[in-house]
Amino acid sequence: MKMPLFRASTRKKRERVVETALKLFARHGYDQVSVDDIIAATGTSKGTFYHYFASKEALLCELPRQQCETVKQWDWTGAEAATPFERAGSLLLTLCHQVENAPLLVKSTFALSKEVALLEKAQAEFASLLIGRLTQMLNDRQQATYLYDLYMGTLWTWASSDRTDLETALRRNLYWAWRGLGNQPGIPGTDMQWQVPKFVRKEKKIMHVAVIGGGLAGLTAAAYLSQSTEISGVVFERSPQWGGRAFTYEKSGFTLNYGAHAIYGIDRHTISQLEKELRLQFASREVNKRQVMYEKGTNVTPAPLDFVNLVKTDVITTGQKVRFAAEIAAMIGGIHQFRNYETLGDYLAESHAGEDLKELWEHLVCSNFFISPEDARRVPGSVIADYYHNLFLSQKPVNYILGSWAVITEQLKQKIASSGRWELAAQEGVDNIRYEDGKYWITTKNRSASFDRVMFAMPVQQVVKLLKGTPWEPFLKPYESNTATEVLVYDVGLSHVVNRPFSYISDMNNKMFITDVSATDHTLVPEGGQLLQGVAYLSDETDGDTKDRKAYLDERQQQMEALFDRHYPGWREATVVKRMSKRAMVQSVKNVVGNRLLPNRLDSVPFYFCGDGCLGKGELAERAFSSARNAAKLLLSELPVFAGQH
Ligand SMILES: Cc1cc2nc3c(=O)[nH]c(=O)nc-3n(C[C@H](O)[C@H](O)[C@H](O)COP(=O)(O)OP(=O)(O)OC[C@H]3O[C@@H](n4cnc5c(N)ncnc54)[C@H](O)[C@@H]3O)c2cc1C
Repeated sequence: MKMPLFRASTRKKRERVVETALKLFARHGYDQVSVDDIIAATGTSKGTFYHYFASKEALLCELPRQQCETVKQWDWTGAEAATPFERAGSLLLTLCHQVENAPLLVKSTFALSKEVALLEKAQAEFASLLIGRLTQMLNDRQQATYLYDLYMGTLWTWASSDRTDLETALRRNLYWAWRGLGNQPGIPGTDMQWQVPKFVRKEKKIMHVAVIGGGLAGLTAAAYLSQSTEISGVVFERSPQWGGRAFTYEKSGFTLNYGAHAIYGIDRHTISQLEKELRLQFASREVNKRQVMYEKGTNVTPAPLDFVNLVKTDVITTGQKVRFAAEIAAMIGGIHQFRNYETLGDYLAESHAGEDLKELWEHLVCSNFFISPEDARRVPGSVIADYYHNLFLSQKPVNYILGSWAVITEQLKQKIASSGRWELAAQEGVDNIRYEDGKYWITTKNRSASFDRVMFAMPVQQVVKLLKGTPWEPFLKPYESNTATEVLVYDVGLSHVVNRPFSYISDMNNKMFITDVSATDHTLVPEGGQLLQGVAYLSDETDGDTKDRKAYLDERQQQMEALFDRHYPGWREATVVKRMSKRAMVQSVKNVVGNRLLPNRLDSVPFYFCGDGCLGKGELAERAFSSARNAAKLLLSELPVFAGQH
């Protein structure tokens, strides 16, 4: 009998709150979830919440309470001839199934059981109930108590380590228990002399690895590497915070991402591989496609994200809609002409499509790659073909990670730290690297330490700078002149929702957009607040002339403010939090002809490279994740050779 912890949300209000709260605790950890989060996620009021629960702690007692319910309702449904041990084991496995998707929650209940009196009481009740039930089955209280301890011990080890398969762990422990208990009547006494075999230990060679950079790429690579017991390491991060350009911070109740947090095509995104392979737990929400708009001239019309929107949109004429639909089909089938053209510009120059459709293609590339139209025309045809093949096959084109990037970076950090073999060194920038006595020596302000392997997980420009003056400098030369993708970012946190006509508005005339972040993720704002993020793509053309550049950036800022004025009247008066950056680096290497993405390995250079300026699948954060995964796998594949050499 399997009774899942989270049942269908068709019950009464109280149960809905419990169900939602436990889900949030399981996903983010008890400490990370506030009563306000629970209220927001349940769609109830504070009054309703406190009517049912005296505090957040009271909700934590729901876990032992539900386990008690399972013990009470549990019934043997297997063969009549089953032994008492088989029956007892089956009950414990049923209990384990109930919590197996909630390791963070189980961990929180263990950690808080001595602090929260109510929880301690609930757990004592569960202990007494389970031991009583097991005693009935086995007719022996000592054995029953032992099985209870075994169950709780297994839960604790599972929840506080990375061992994610609870059922296997419990089955294995039960097997050893049966071997002891089942040997009736000769159950060994406490005075039993354990025969401890003498092992001839072969010393295992541990590879010591330095990862430089604690952004999405560095944390991802280190999380993969930390799974190997044959690797130890240090992640060096020069700033005080983790996450790099994906770091998250709080201001006046608003949760702000330094960068945006849209995941394009999440069902086909590398993050889904990470979710499985690194056992990440996060929730995402799709941006409402029907509320994604384009502004062209003075007309606001649906963005052609799918066939429903394509029918409704005014952005192209009916004839061009048919052609665009055929192009999408060709893209999905991998037979679109794009692949045969060096750049988007070359394709558009020869295409017989109408001007409005050409403009649409250009605009799509601007929005997905965060670049200006001039740059969009320089994106290689093969890159566009691969990118849109993936995106058009996706069922979920634009998604947000609920609760911000921090939900991911925190879990990656936890995973690395919990291996016990890795150190996370914040505020420890790497100043220098050299090779001596068969090792790579890294110097920071705090130490000079040697490593067997080094992985660079930072923008390519910074890699080039760090390797200046070393024997490897010449090999980095081809990557020196790469240009980065930069944008103007304009975040505003508003005291109240001033207007919510759509989730995303893209200004086709001026190449900028505003996302109503809180329309998709309301956990990022204080009650009733609104969080808007404006992003303007920047052209490189005025580079070199500082005066012109300043005037250009000021003009972009004014255009952005005018876009806010048009669609969010009253935003200026309601602003509580404002952040503007006129030069935010979205991607360290712009994916246009003339630029070169750095491979994960370079001939004649002994290091590994990852980050959003390296070769990998997708663009932006996906490239950071995918290149980190590739680089980590390459390094892991070296382990047998490394072990053999020592
Ligand atoms: C405004 C904006 C909007 C964005 N929107 C999106 C979006 O919607 N979707 C999306 O997928 N992506 C988006 N991105 C891009 C995404 O944030 C980046 O692609 C991703 O965060 C890059 O990760 P990274 O690990 O490769 O690099 P980084 O985040 O730059 O990490 C590198 C780290 O290395 C550290 N470092 C550098 N030098 C040293 C040194 N010498 N020693 C130690 N540490 C060092 C840095 O401090 C940094 O923490 C956006 C970015 C911005 C800025």
